[in-house]
Amino acid sequence: MSDMHLITCQDVIKLYEDEKTGIQVPALRGIDLWVDEGELISIIGPSGSGKTTLISIIGGIEKPSSGKVFVDGQLLNTFDDKRLTQYRREEVGFLYQLPQQNLVWSLSALENVRLPMKIVGNLTRQEQVKRAEELLDRVGLLSRKNHKPSQLSGGEAQRVGIAVALANNPKIILADEPTGELDSVTTFQIIEYFKELNRDLGKTFVIVTHDYRFANRTDRSLRIRDGRIVSMHRAVKGKELNVEEMISAGVPSVEIERQLAAGREEFIYVDSQGTLRLPEEVITRLKIHRHVRLEVHEDHVRLYPVD
Ligand code: ADP
Ligand code: MG
Repeated sequence: MSDMHLITCQDVIKLYEDEKTGIQVPALRGIDLWVDEGELISIIGPSGSGKTTLISIIGGIEKPSSGKVFVDGQLLNTFDDKRLTQYRREEVGFLYQLPQQNLVWSLSALENVRLPMKIVGNLTRQEQVKRAEELLDRVGLLSRKNHKPSQLSGGEAQRVGIAVALANNPKIILADEPTGELDSVTTFQIIEYFKELNRDLGKTFVIVTHDYRFANRTDRSLRIRDGRIVSMHRAVKGKELNVEEMISAGVPSVEIERQLAAGREEFIYVDSQGTLRLPEEVITRLKIHRHVRLEVHEDHVRLYPVD
């Protein structure tokens, strides 16, 4: 059942028209995806693989060309523009790569966090200020509430951005390359805030990025390539690392990254049509072309290249 997950994408295709030729070009080629309430997942892929398109569709910014998107039991495809605007403002929070995309430069941190509440207009001024202060406190920036974005570091600006995303108390935070501009240490800190909000407030996070430091810190990470989800990675059960402890013990971030990567296992994705995509490296090495011979055993299958 599709409404058992918080987010479900069923065979989502997104075509864009090439301006010069008028030909429809696929950005997403049949995405099947499900995210449970309270999960923290990352979707990793190179530039142009469809990450921003996917997050925009889940966030109600773009409409799919075909395929269904369910969020919290609702079929997004049926929303009219008014309902979509409400959904974007109240039911999801967005965090983008650049502080300028998340914050209004002329406003203080506090006013930035208040802004989404003002737009929705359900709270009194006092309630808005109180909530904005609580959120800034959560991200450790209450003392900076009167600072403008230009007076904050990159990491601090992203933390204010997290508070802005949470302003209207959405269940879901959608983050597009949230650490793209940050160094390793600050990136780990931001991931920590995400994990804390996920754990303490039960917020669901979908993070798209090409940053493998993120991939290895989330419950599940999906690989996206050419508009398709190709594999899923997760920590080997019982081998989860205590990253906070490693950071406080002074373990260098490269070493933390190495151990995180070593402690994960990969699963090839099988979509709703039964399609499975083999890694490019395997196709090349085994000279697989068009066909493989399938051998079905009681509890496993084998694939053989065909000469
Ligand atoms: P990513 O975020 O992974 O870099 P995108 O989702 O931005 O990837 O883009 C996926 C593909 O769709 C790319 O080939 C890109 O050129 C194309 N694309 C994205 N947005 C548009 C658009 N508005 N018009 C035409 N093509 C687009
Ligand atoms: Mg992008």
